Amino acid sequence: MSLHDISAKIAEAEHQAGRDAGSVTLIAVSKVQPNARVQAVLEQGHRCFGENKVQEAAGKWPDFKQTFEGVELHLIGPLQTNKARQAMELFDFIHAVDRPKLAATIARLAQEMGHCPGLFVQVNTGEEDQKAGVLPADADAFVAECKALDLPVKGLMCIPPVDEEPSLHFALLAKIAARNGLAGLSMGMSSDFERAIALGATHVRVGSAIFGERSYE
Ligand SMILES: *Cc1c(COP(=O)(O)O)cnc(C)c1O
Repeated sequence: MSLHDISAKIAEAEHQAGRDAGSVTLIAVSKVQPNARVQAVLEQGHRCFGENKVQEAAGKWPDFKQTFEGVELHLIGPLQTNKARQAMELFDFIHAVDRPKLAATIARLAQEMGHCPGLFVQVNTGEEDQKAGVLPADADAFVAECKALDLPVKGLMCIPPVDEEPSLHFALLAKIAARNGLAGLSMGMSSDFERAIALGATHVRVGSAIFGERSYE
């Protein structure tokens, strides 16, 4: 697969779902990928990328941003409060806001820095112990808490359990977003982005299907 193939599949899924062309943002997840592969996708004109670690992103994106104009960076992995400032300097969107302490830290830094990335609240739709995110039952209260802090909450994000049908989780996330008046839905990865688009995803996070398998050696 390639950027071109994935873009075509996204366009087809938008069409199938009766949604406007271009209503889904493709976040190319470049974590762990060699710089040459990332550069190749930048050279094809793509500008929207996702990373799951602040440190790793800080090592490669300042240089890429110098060379390629208009890069939009999304932090899609968990964020520790002590890295919040660095994350807010580097990223345009943060997808894993999931606890009061982090929300309060971001709010305080936003005041101080005079800007705030767009935020997504992560919901642990599968209620998995090892996964970040607020529980579905706590989502409404947490979103309200973020809004009360004047945080720019754009939508919700989820990562379904690996061994379950993702559509159930996408539908649940869409339902929680709708009742909270949130338009953004960050859901869908290489294996299931088309199903996510059918259920309303506005942001799909696709890594290996664009760049190839990640090598963790
Ligand atoms: C790595 C990652 C992705 C991309 O996964 P692929 O299966 O390679 O598409 C998407 N979302 C999150 C949160 C990730 O950490």
